[in-house]
Amino acid sequence: MPRSRSVTATCSTPIALLITIVVSACTSPPSPASERAVRRVWDEYLTSKRGQFAANAGTPSPLWSAAEQSRWPMYDLAGFYVADHAIPEVLSVTPVNAAVDSAYQVVTRFWPAGTTTRDSMTKPELTMTAYARREGGRWVLANALPYRTHAWVRKTRGRITFHIAPALRFNATKAARASAFVDSLATAFDVAPPPRLDYYVTESVDQALAILGVVVPTRFGADGRFAKPVNLQLFSGIPALGEEYRHEIAHVVLLPIVRGSSTSLLASEGVPTWFGGTAGLDYRGSVQRLDSLLRTAPPRTLETTIDGTGVPVEIRYAAGAVLAEWLHEVGSVDAVREYLRTPTLGLRAMLTRRLARPWPDVLTGWRQRIERIAAPPPRVPPTARAGQDSVMR
Ligand SMILES: [Zn+2]
Repeated sequence: MPRSRSVTATCSTPIALLITIVVSACTSPPSPASERAVRRVWDEYLTSKRGQFAANAGTPSPLWSAAEQSRWPMYDLAGFYVADHAIPEVLSVTPVNAAVDSAYQVVTRFWPAGTTTRDSMTKPELTMTAYARREGGRWVLANALPYRTHAWVRKTRGRITFHIAPALRFNATKAARASAFVDSLATAFDVAPPPRLDYYVTESVDQALAILGVVVPTRFGADGRFAKPVNLQLFSGIPALGEEYRHEIAHVVLLPIVRGSSTSLLASEGVPTWFGGTAGLDYRGSVQRLDSLLRTAPPRTLETTIDGTGVPVEIRYAAGAVLAEWLHEVGSVDAVREYLRTPTLGLRAMLTRRLARPWPDVLTGWRQRIERIAAPPPRVPPTARAGQDSVMR
């Protein structure tokens, strides 16, 4: 994307969208007719998905805000989480501002396919809030995100705009490091850096989902994050990592390499885990966890991790990360790049060629590396420690 266009895109932030709303706001009060019109648009939109909400979250729709569709290719941020053929139950259509007929909030509960709505024996899958506002003289649908975060503190560092949840404080040091990481990773892999990155720093995964308009029955707590690389969006739900969740940043920066290829889960998650760990652990911590799981879990090897379905995330991600580091040592960035673009079926051939050893040696070498990385660091003798202290003083 040319620089001038990226600048334009940066200007059309959700705040700009909100300004548009205010400018185009009708000064009359909300009306039942508007509510009915919004409901019709929403019903038509739901029908247009043909039960495939997630798969169609990026399918262009005349019923959704054109401004949001041009900013976010996967524009239906909440619909992405609705399971196939879930049954919608519209709970309410209410004006956002009780005095102005400018926007409405539509709350819909989704029930599992094949169940009956409001059945006390069934848990709803999720409750979604979408918005409707006037665009080009008609009602169109829009995301909760701009409405729910427009009052959040925003700070820009390099290409990243951080949106900070009200209860959190902006960490400028982490933000500066994250910004530098974007550029250095893009340079190292010789890809165009993302023109922008909207980075939401939240208190928990639940809050990250809530700003998208999604509430699920399960509570996740401050224990995760997710990225929407095609939208250049990142949501951090671990305040301890906050502005510097390198794993997710790597997903966004490396998207040009994996886009259009049938990358493996081992590589597409392993490389970001090498750069930023996973599930709140850094790379070494992730490998230590892998090491203990390999010792205690049912016998698992690289062989079964590549092919197996249902391999726990903490095994697969760290297993792939160890391979990424190994490939980098042997073949530099070129080898990691090839790893990212190799489908699962081609991994064995690629690894034996790049690592220049037969497959059985790759398997044993992989396990030995895990043990080496996981091993505690050598203890520093007391005399050496004293020397370090004196240097620091
Ligand atoms: Zn990931």
